[in-house]
Amino acid sequence: MGFIEFKQVTKEYKIGEVPIKALNGVDFSIAEGEFVVILGASGAGKSTILNILGGMDTATKGQVFVGGQEITRYNETQLTRYRGEKVGFVFQFYNLIQNLNALENVEFAAEVCHNHLDAKQILQKVGLQHRMRNFPSQLSGGEQQRVAIARAVAKNPLLLLCDEPTGALDYVTGKSVLKLLQDLNKETKKCVVVVTHNTAIAPMADKIIKVKSGTIESVAMNETKLQVE
Ligand code: ADP
Ligand code: ADP
Repeated sequence: MGFIEFKQVTKEYKIGEVPIKALNGVDFSIAEGEFVVILGASGAGKSTILNILGGMDTATKGQVFVGGQEITRYNETQLTRYRGEKVGFVFQFYNLIQNLNALENVEFAAEVCHNHLDAKQILQKVGLQHRMRNFPSQLSGGEQQRVAIARAVAKNPLLLLCDEPTGALDYVTGKSVLKLLQDLNKETKKCVVVVTHNTAIAPMADKIIKVKSGTIESVAMNETKLQVE
């Protein structure tokens, strides 16, 4: 069994009386340490997959396993703990706490998870040793995303989930954020899952999962993985 397993996962939303199938029998498997890109057009179901994998939403049907645990069996308490302590999130618009500086944003995440990772050291690793006392509003988009990545890493999570992590960044800044994610993946051997509509990101993955209309269109290993420089 893979590190992450989706087995016949279906997600139905109801808007009034009309049900919408956001996911319909989704199956895929991700191995430990893989860098995965989930690719698909807007509305394909990518965020729904990420939200279920991150414990932010629940499946209507099917099973999801992470690290041998069936998260689809978790109760609300277990799910809150999983989401809070086991998953690192990176969002398109950073979602930093605006009244905490960079260092405090990272320290807060480490504290919530009761671990003793050195927040300063992590900020150094993402190249922000000179910005630790800056508040989010004093940082560029790329710097804010680096803080968000540092915050995710500070949880010492089982996996990193990134939803359009370069969506709000220019090309060069986006590229440096992708390099950072690739480097962290290599170094920590933690699974990184990036959801995007941007086909240019796919070549950087070990595995490419294509989603279309709530179903898996294809799952392919990428033998010619591009290392971002
Ligand atoms: P993507 O991330 O690929 O753009 P989503 O996973 O956000 O796609 O959405 C998949 C489908 O589910 C879309 O048709 C979307 O409109 C629908 N959907 C997503 N979230 C909700 C919701 N909370 N309520 C109703 N429909 C939703
Ligand atoms: P970008 O071109 O990536 O959007 P900016 O022009 O926003 O970058 O910022 C350039 C540099 O100036 C960054 O290093 C950022 O940290 C710094 N900076 C931007 N706004 C402020 C501010 N209000 N206070 C202090 N430093 C700032």
